[in-house]
Amino acid sequence: MSHIKDIGDDFLSLFLPRLCLGCRAHLVRGEDVLCMECLLSMARTDFHLRRDNMLEQSFWGRCHVERAAAFSVYNRGSRIRKLIHSLKYDGRKEIGKMLGELYGSTLAGSGFMEGIEMIVPVPLSAERQRQRGFNQSECFAQGLSASCRVPVRNDILLRTGRSESQTRRGRYERWENVEGLFTVRKPSEITGKHLLVADDVITTGSTMEACVNALLEAGGERISVVALAAAQKLTL
Ligand SMILES: [Zn+2]
Repeated sequence: MSHIKDIGDDFLSLFLPRLCLGCRAHLVRGEDVLCMECLLSMARTDFHLRRDNMLEQSFWGRCHVERAAAFSVYNRGSRIRKLIHSLKYDGRKEIGKMLGELYGSTLAGSGFMEGIEMIVPVPLSAERQRQRGFNQSECFAQGLSASCRVPVRNDILLRTGRSESQTRRGRYERWENVEGLFTVRKPSEITGKHLLVADDVITTGSTMEACVNALLEAGGERISVVALAAAQKLTL
């Protein structure tokens, strides 16, 4: 029966307006997923243009990050927060893909991607991946890959550790908590390479820190990081 439903959906889509996933406004020709107004209203960072930017600095003393960039700024009322929520919990994978493509062009054009040989999405635990059916960071990574022409590798990093909930703890405790959370598979394939780790949001940076350290310990030469959004406190 599912093919009948697909045909029905295709048929309906001829008549139903395409709506912006950010604000429900009708999309016009040339717009896809998000309307121009939503795209323009998202606070952008210029991190890809600035060495030693605030996001890079937030990793100092925690792990060695080659370059760090984030598309937008994450706070309580931010549009990107709503979009990431929709990506994760409504399964709107096209949001991650589309913003990844958009940001990928910016990154590629600025030289940020130079020397980077693979994009590694931050993995979910096997259980979470099963529940959700997809990894939102991988959607973002696929979008980046489409415009940067750098392959995505989702078979390198594995989330093996304990639960992801680690809120309301001090930084040190959090760090303790995420150590050993990730395992690297096929370490020989990252030896001497420059990798870009991609996540949807960087809030405290502790998840990213654990990924970077796991990859460095496994023989990665240089690790850069990128996210759809970074918490406002990391960007001020
Ligand atoms: Zn909109």
